[in-house]
Amino acid sequence: MTATVADGGFDGPHADVKQRIAAMVEEHRAEILDLSHRIHADPEPAFEERQAATWVAQAVARHGYSVEHPAGRLETAVRGRLPGGLGTDGPRIGILAEYDALPGLGHGCGHNTMAASGVGAAIAVARLAPELRGEIVFLGTPAEERGSGKQFMLDDGLMDGLDAALLFHPSDRTQAACALLASEDVEVTFAGLQAHAAADPWKGRNALDALVLLFSSIGLWRQQLKPEARVHGIVIEGGTAANIIPSRTVGRFMIRSTDEAYFGEMRERFRALVDAAALATACEGEARFSGGSSTMKDNATIRERFVANMAAYGIADNPVQADQLGSSDMGNVSQVLPTIHPSIAICDEGVAGHSTEFRDAAASPRADEVTLIAAALVAQTAYELFAEPSLVEAAWHEFRGD
Ligand SMILES: [Zn+2]
Ligand SMILES: [Zn+2]
Repeated sequence: MTATVADGGFDGPHADVKQRIAAMVEEHRAEILDLSHRIHADPEPAFEERQAATWVAQAVARHGYSVEHPAGRLETAVRGRLPGGLGTDGPRIGILAEYDALPGLGHGCGHNTMAASGVGAAIAVARLAPELRGEIVFLGTPAEERGSGKQFMLDDGLMDGLDAALLFHPSDRTQAACALLASEDVEVTFAGLQAHAAADPWKGRNALDALVLLFSSIGLWRQQLKPEARVHGIVIEGGTAANIIPSRTVGRFMIRSTDEAYFGEMRERFRALVDAAALATACEGEARFSGGSSTMKDNATIRERFVANMAAYGIADNPVQADQLGSSDMGNVSQVLPTIHPSIAICDEGVAGHSTEFRDAAASPRADEVTLIAAALVAQTAYELFAEPSLVEAAWHEFRGD
């Protein structure tokens, strides 16, 4: 049985404001959940989240934010800013929202709940703006599943001056702390020569052979990889007809590691495997790396506040499971400023992420309640950062390691 957003048992400093935040989220229940369900029903993959970005931008604009959309170079990035009523000479707190889906699967990572909870948090903090000093910065961040959209937003200066980056991610278990694998996308293209596959196959150079060889050598390589390292891929183009020797094949891969130095070694080895497959088949091989995401530098100072706020809803925290790690461009943000990436369960433990089961869970009544609670938790944590300059200072101290 999940608590509802109105059920928080707040005490301690700011208990009254935390209660008001919960009430404001409850007041906007229909608007927040409608956004979650609309995005869920109309999934758009990385860099193509046009509808979702528009809805998100309209929602924060309705609640008083000055909105840039597009923001920076990405068509589907959004930034909304709202100054505090007491002046802007205070912290800048970022509330982040993802909304990309998985090709062929839909919202199997539940980013619809992240878009909705981010907007919900932005709505609640906006209502407190007259009492705040500093600036609330809402960031609609595209392309988390592929391409690391947040890195483009960092490069475009959209996170300049931020003192904290907050979001929530749905999961099959609750864990406020976050560890991430460094990850990079690799697109591999092999070019060969077409020929009739029966009449004169010896005239061809088979680009599919090169891709098959690459998969085989990756499979063998995996035996020698460190346990936390990952490499996995799919075929995008494998030829056009069985009676044509394929002259062009394309595969998409990801390589991941917990260790940035080892990650560099993996990248070099991967390139060597592509070259070897090309050499063996007399094809040309090209590996294009892009969309790198970093390991996570999780900010415990801010996370502890989030965990305390979760506790007011009777939501217990759990330790990170080091053998079940993913990757996220939130890692890139965490290398630049104090960042948290807490996960809250929207379904029973054991439901696999990136599955149809998890996709269906992301629009369930339980996910809806968690989305609202997460909106309140992010807003409450943001409020604490605005209200306590010493907390922001402590978060930066931890970040800098001093
Ligand atoms: Zn995700
Ligand atoms: Zn995902």
